[in-house]
Amino acid sequence: MQRALLQWYKTAKRELPWRQTTDPYKIWLSEVILQQTRVNQGLPYYERFIEKWPNVQTLAQADLQDVLKMWQGLGYYTRARNIHTTANWVFKTLDGKFPSTYNELIQLKGIGPYIAAAIASFSSNEACAVNDGNVSRVLSRLFEVKDAINSHLGKKNIQACADAFLNLKNPADHNQAIMELGALICLPKNPNCLQCPLQDFCLAFQHQSIDQYPKKNPKTKVQHKYFHYFVIYSKKELLIGKRSQQSIWQELFEFPLLSSDSESTVQVAFQTFSKQHGWESLALGIPIIDTKYRHILTHQILHIQFSLLEVKKLPLLENYQKIHRLDIHKYPVPRPIERFLEENLWLSQAGK
Ligand code: SF4
Repeated sequence: MQRALLQWYKTAKRELPWRQTTDPYKIWLSEVILQQTRVNQGLPYYERFIEKWPNVQTLAQADLQDVLKMWQGLGYYTRARNIHTTANWVFKTLDGKFPSTYNELIQLKGIGPYIAAAIASFSSNEACAVNDGNVSRVLSRLFEVKDAINSHLGKKNIQACADAFLNLKNPADHNQAIMELGALICLPKNPNCLQCPLQDFCLAFQHQSIDQYPKKNPKTKVQHKYFHYFVIYSKKELLIGKRSQQSIWQELFEFPLLSSDSESTVQVAFQTFSKQHGWESLALGIPIIDTKYRHILTHQILHIQFSLLEVKKLPLLENYQKIHRLDIHKYPVPRPIERFLEENLWLSQAGK
């Protein structure tokens, strides 16, 4: 099985920049970027990061706001904050030498068992079996793992399969190969079994039970949240604020916001928002209803309503600051706001 997998990998693998290096810093960056992100989408981000911050020293000295700005559009911003924290820690406490062994890596912020195993095996050929979503799917079908892959027992059993299957002579290529097989052949829907190098060994293929694997427990219920963004602007300026700690999009910038668990009209939302900030209700005027988006996160669906309010002079608003309209593109913002700005270019052109 190991030989068949490696032979297939040699001919079928994609040439990706992080496969041309054994530098643990670069491998770490690529793995963090590729979590929850497709290769095609992550590749330009990886290239931009490496060009701007080619080593851990330069990333550690970067401004967090610049890192978030560079990350903009990738989502799951905790990853960007973690890479900045970790780069700083490595720079200050490890003399800028990025670790390459599993035991050292697993202690770093934002690095779990999968990334630690990936960096350790790819950079120093340490015998650690990787186990991400792609690998779990392949192994659950190969060995017909009966436990749900999102349960504690299922994860343990899949890891045991991964460890047993690991090619101890060449863990780096073996790990890359099984991940690549999951990405290119053993797909979630309609796996290409006829092209699969492991077909002869695959229990799910032999029993024609592929569509039953991987087993999964039902997901937790999705919550709905309702966001009203009030884009309050004057001829030259507009209001934005930095999102507080412990929230989605932490440290990113956004327009004045009223969020709630239930739906309401723009008028009602703006009255509530005005009251919260001690204004006479609607003293500033009536916001004009603009774009509405739906933004889907892992356990939440955000219903986002943007409304525009042009004023002569911007009000003082706690937790929000006035900025020049031309400068809005310098600030890291969540994807829905980026989309709104792309569709309303006039807003970042002061005086239009
Ligand atoms: Fe996946 Fe099919 Fe290969 Fe089995 S034979 S590992 S189900 S692609």
